[in-house]
Amino acid sequence: MYIVNSLAAFALNLINKSDISDIVYNVLNGSRLNLSDCLRLLESDDIYSLGISANHLRNKLFGNNASFVNNIILNYTNVCVTYCKFCAFYRPPGHSESYTLSLKQVLERVIMAKEAYGITQILIQGGHNPNLRIEYYEEVFREIKKRHPKIGIHGLSASEIDMIARVERSTTKEILHRLKLAGLDSLPGAGAEILDDEVKSAISPLKIKSHEWLRIMEEAHSLDIRSSATMMYGTVETTEQRANHLLLIARLQEKTHGFMSFIPWSFEPNKTEMQSDGSVRYSSGGSGLLKMIAISRIVFYSLIDHLQSSWLTNGVGMAQLALNYGADDFGGTLIGEEVVSATGARSTELSASKIIESIRQIGYRPCERDNYYNIIRYF
Ligand code: SF4
Repeated sequence: MYIVNSLAAFALNLINKSDISDIVYNVLNGSRLNLSDCLRLLESDDIYSLGISANHLRNKLFGNNASFVNNIILNYTNVCVTYCKFCAFYRPPGHSESYTLSLKQVLERVIMAKEAYGITQILIQGGHNPNLRIEYYEEVFREIKKRHPKIGIHGLSASEIDMIARVERSTTKEILHRLKLAGLDSLPGAGAEILDDEVKSAISPLKIKSHEWLRIMEEAHSLDIRSSATMMYGTVETTEQRANHLLLIARLQEKTHGFMSFIPWSFEPNKTEMQSDGSVRYSSGGSGLLKMIAISRIVFYSLIDHLQSSWLTNGVGMAQLALNYGADDFGGTLIGEEVVSATGARSTELSASKIIESIRQIGYRPCERDNYYNIIRYF
């Protein structure tokens, strides 16, 4: 206890000397940040102070624990009619490399993963496939739940929900309601990218607009379907657009309390249209990741509990460092991931033992969580 108190005192001493100390103390006192606070954080070059501050906040919430979830990703189809310029995964309808998993293939993967890895969560995401009716999703969810009722189904981004609603000529709320009845537990936060329509017009002009993403999330929360929130940074957005994105999510969370976690992704340009047209050549890199992780912890302190370290786009080493910059969750094992791997990024699967080892290597206590971030065992 003496060591813990000494470290906290040491951190507070360093925070006091930084030029963001007033923001950190406001957050600790329960104040909400405004646009100028967020801009000051994003414009600060003092990554070290941001990290010390975020780590202090993280330690107050989670102590030495760092969680992960044992899961698979089912990228059930790569057929998509939305043609996002940042995506290397999709194929247009009829393309020779397009695929859609059958119910039988989905169940085979789930059963194999349950037996081989003891998964507790299935992350289901895919393209906007106009040939899939809602019965496809309902059948998949029902059959998974029939066989494994305790596996959490974390599935379908807000933009996929919108696509199903358009195919069915229904409302997104009705679609969410039917999918919940079929077994959907929670929604991933994908599809937000940057919640600014100028950015969306540039990088994903055919995708839902910012207010639609926010509306679908609010509808899900009102039906007691909790979700993650995400941010994909490093394309064409300005600092102010990043700040507004964080604030829009914070404001919705104050209203619904439905976000369980926040996941900042750095854009991986490899093999995407944005790289070939020259609009983005490189990803934001390691210091950009650590800064966004730290700022996310400060902005969402006491609002959104969990912050993922994004090993998928930044690698295990950076994810370890992210735990020292405010993240508390390593994310999932992500067996079967195909979206990020389409960019040719590093290996996109990890075993539970590799995650446990990675967490231990930097002095944290690994713990496995379920779909709702409940800890189910410590290591
Ligand atoms: S990001 Fe999603 S919606 Fe956009 S093209 Fe890729 S699969 Fe389609």
